[in-house]
Amino acid sequence: MNLIGLTIKQSSDGLKKKEFSAVELAKAYLDKIKKTDPPGGEPGKNINAFLSFTEDLALRQAEQADQKIASGKFNELTGVPCAIKDAIMVQGEKCTDASKILENYVAPYDATVIKKLKEQGSVILGKTNTDEFTMGSSTEYSAFGVTKNPCDKTRVAGGSSGGSAAAVAADLAVYALGSDTGGSIRQPSSFCGIVGLCPTYGSVSRYGLIAHASSLDQIGPMAKTAEDCKIVFDVIKGKDKLDATTVNSVDAEKFKNFKIKNARMGVPREYFSKGREPEVEKIIKNAIKKAEDAGAKIVEISLPSSEFALACYYIIDPCEISANLARFDGIKYGLSEQGDNLLDVYLKSRGRGLGQEVKRRIMIGTYCLSSGYYDAYYKKALEVRRFIHNDFAKAFNKMDFLFCPVSPFPSFKIGAMGDDPMAMYLADIYTLPMKLVGLPGLSLPAGKTKEENLPVGLQIIGNHFEEDKILAVAQEMENML
Ligand code: GLN
Repeated sequence: MNLIGLTIKQSSDGLKKKEFSAVELAKAYLDKIKKTDPPGGEPGKNINAFLSFTEDLALRQAEQADQKIASGKFNELTGVPCAIKDAIMVQGEKCTDASKILENYVAPYDATVIKKLKEQGSVILGKTNTDEFTMGSSTEYSAFGVTKNPCDKTRVAGGSSGGSAAAVAADLAVYALGSDTGGSIRQPSSFCGIVGLCPTYGSVSRYGLIAHASSLDQIGPMAKTAEDCKIVFDVIKGKDKLDATTVNSVDAEKFKNFKIKNARMGVPREYFSKGREPEVEKIIKNAIKKAEDAGAKIVEISLPSSEFALACYYIIDPCEISANLARFDGIKYGLSEQGDNLLDVYLKSRGRGLGQEVKRRIMIGTYCLSSGYYDAYYKKALEVRRFIHNDFAKAFNKMDFLFCPVSPFPSFKIGAMGDDPMAMYLADIYTLPMKLVGLPGLSLPAGKTKEENLPVGLQIIGNHFEEDKILAVAQEMENML
């Protein structure tokens, strides 16, 4: 029996029926990774989904999972192999966040999400590639090489959770965890043709996630189906005393029987405007038509402040980065260069350890927060953030969901953005606005482009803490697309 390529549900059913053991399942995936995509493997051939391989941990966990299954005490994630973005800490394993400054850093404790997965008996195969410190939209800003798109290896897997998306799409893991600050779960999921859920800010604990921008970062599941995303989300969500911004979600039962035919879907005009590829528009409009045929009420709406989201994000995000990344000073963590004095140690360690994009954002953030400029930039951006919030709040007074593309274009060629950071920033134009407001969003594969056969994701945005409503509709829609 081929053990590779099953969903969580199918893997779990097989384990339950004793068609295969957790150790056999883990070995099948570990073998596939070793043969086709070993971390640090040949650059030309590899997809480069993984930065490190946690083989010993995976085999130990698989043995424990088999014991759990034998004793009858198991659930849907027990024995199911997964991959974890290298921004999330797994105790005793390397956690580099794709940065040279953390190249040899070993996580001293488990992130809350990892603790929860371990309690379920999950099997962790390895840590996946990302843009350095999760800043980017293509994984090209990783200090350890780009992740290629399994659908077309000349193209990017998206970012920053490109390694997680590629691992799931290439059947190197059954599911993965990613993190989303401005689009990093949804955009790579769209580029690689998988399902990715960015939960509401506060639904999932950030404890043990290396901070990028603390008012935006969220961990979420990436998997083959919406049902699988729900299984993982149900495990990782909830209040955590180690993250004061977490709360318990709305009772999931409330949305269990929610149906498309009862849904009011808002289609924001501004998300179907300039810069978008016609093929993307066609695929998204077709998906919207399918929802309409299934009985949804489709209403064109307007989110006028969304046009300011990109500018607003690229002030708030660097400001938070400049504060969060001050801790990487060559003393507390990771790479430490010798210097003549303390300042010299800082300059050399940060100079050598941090990449271009990270330095660019630290400088922008430091500038925007400096006295004299704070009011003009940071404070102004916070005011704009409130306008964007008000737009969405108004929309959700009348709507159940918003439908729009995840990205204006499908996966692009590696190197296509060259050295132009502004072009890269535009890749997030449809994922940033709701993120500034902390809303949940999901990327659902909606079809493929005609000539190049590249996946395109439909973005379903829901109201705060209504992930289960999004997931219910996504499950219904994935059978229609
Ligand atoms: N691409 C966006 C950025 O570079 C979002 C990144 C993310 O969501 N982690 O900031």
